[in-house]
Amino acid sequence: MKKTVLIIDDSKTQLETLKIILKRSGYNVVTACNPQEGFCKIFEIAPDLIISDIVMPDLNGYQFCKLVKSMCYSKEIPVILLTVLDQKIDKFWSTKSGANRFVPKTIPSDELIKICNNTINENPVNDATKKQILCKKINIDEVPNILNQILDNTLIRSTIMNEFRLLSENMNNEHELLANIYKIISSIIDYDIAVIWFKENDDECKNFYFDTHLNLSSNFKENLIKDILNKSNCESDVLNFKITYNNSLFINKNIEFNEYKNVGSKNIIPIYFEDNLLGCFAIFNNTYQNYENNDIFDVIVSELKLLFRIKKLYSQTKHLAITDFLTEIYNRRQFDITIEHEFARAIRYLTPLTLCLIDIDHFKSVNDTYGHKIGDEVLRAIALLIKKMFRKSDYIFRYGGEEFMLILPETNVNNAYTPIERLRKEIEKLEFNSNNLKFNITASFGLADNCVDAMTFEQLIKNTDIALYKAKNSGRNKVIIYEGK
Ligand code: GH3
Ligand code: MG
Ligand code: MG
Repeated sequence: MKKTVLIIDDSKTQLETLKIILKRSGYNVVTACNPQEGFCKIFEIAPDLIISDIVMPDLNGYQFCKLVKSMCYSKEIPVILLTVLDQKIDKFWSTKSGANRFVPKTIPSDELIKICNNTINENPVNDATKKQILCKKINIDEVPNILNQILDNTLIRSTIMNEFRLLSENMNNEHELLANIYKIISSIIDYDIAVIWFKENDDECKNFYFDTHLNLSSNFKENLIKDILNKSNCESDVLNFKITYNNSLFINKNIEFNEYKNVGSKNIIPIYFEDNLLGCFAIFNNTYQNYENNDIFDVIVSELKLLFRIKKLYSQTKHLAITDFLTEIYNRRQFDITIEHEFARAIRYLTPLTLCLIDIDHFKSVNDTYGHKIGDEVLRAIALLIKKMFRKSDYIFRYGGEEFMLILPETNVNNAYTPIERLRKEIEKLEFNSNNLKFNITASFGLADNCVDAMTFEQLIKNTDIALYKAKNSGRNKVIIYEGK
């Protein structure tokens, strides 16, 4: 069956030339001398292909293309933009407008026919679609309105996207980031409760950020979180969670939210990147809300996905920057930052602060005897042991090759001595194995606190070093406290 081509061009001679070329190749040809007329004709003839000029008065080829591609059925019809424009940006913009091909007007006619044939073959419009197209009638006066709506929609979408993208600057402050996310979402859609959860690799306690104007019972919250974790395919240890509240809604509707199962509308959207769960976004409404096929909601979700991803990359990068690769504890750089901060805090709040420097004894001979790989194993085992034995509020660093540093806030040397002595004994007890040769190691410890000769953190570090030196020089495998000059 003959295929039909609709040609749109404001130049009559151009239209006639093209018409002759296409007819000669066996096509039915219908012409229109402006995009508005062309758009209406689509619904009268349901063509197999549209060829349009770009530069035309009132409406240009890009806008026409957007019109065609925005309608449910006409979007199936392939469009070739035929033009004298030849800049890169013209090609870019024609692709972004949805055109299937961008062809210069100078093209020889046999090549143009080849392109037309290929475009039709690659994008066939089936009979059912044609029938649907023919069912719709468009009045020429409606065209500017339809186009305005499309452009307005695009503008809204890109404005929302832009708002979200600005938040990538808030990555180092989770509270600020969440407050700003909710500021945007609450200004776009209605909800009674919104919840965001960023999954962290080591999140023993899951942190949920709520944005709500309601007072929720603990039972309600527990059920809600259970639901979120279930829908995210996450083991639901609901007892271990923390909620941070935000209120960007500024309203106080008198709604009773007593029973979780009675909530009118629950939209829970787990957020993944390449099969990895990054967290979840959820909104709840008292009354039923359907967000399916809601353009604006889709934009919010896709922008949130991007933010979740950036946040994940940010925390992974941060983790890499402050973590020692071999032992998975903080590195020296993080020590330099932490000690300055903790020392200043101890001065401000007049609290004690102890530093403990640990150096493995004769470690060089471990490497020499059993090899570097076994040496690495020893370092990992000691790091793990220290991690297990100390509180979450204490900091553990790999300070040098076979040296570890502990910062014990709110602790003086006398209080630190007992757990450090216990650590020394546990290290002594560790048993290593290389080619069935069993061996043990020991370590020496230097302790100092901010109560003796430590006006600066640099002095405190020096004092710890002096104490360690003493431990080494007095037989090793012991804990020595710095006692002043
Ligand atoms: P001392 O009791 O006086 O502290 O003696 P030592 O042998 O422990 O001290 P020394 O400073 O002479 O040697 C430290 C050794 O630690 C030398 C170095 O090869 C080893 N070392 C440093 N970093 C690593 C590492 O990442 N892996 C391994 N396997 N060895 C390391
Ligand atoms: Mg050393
Ligand atoms: Mg050593």
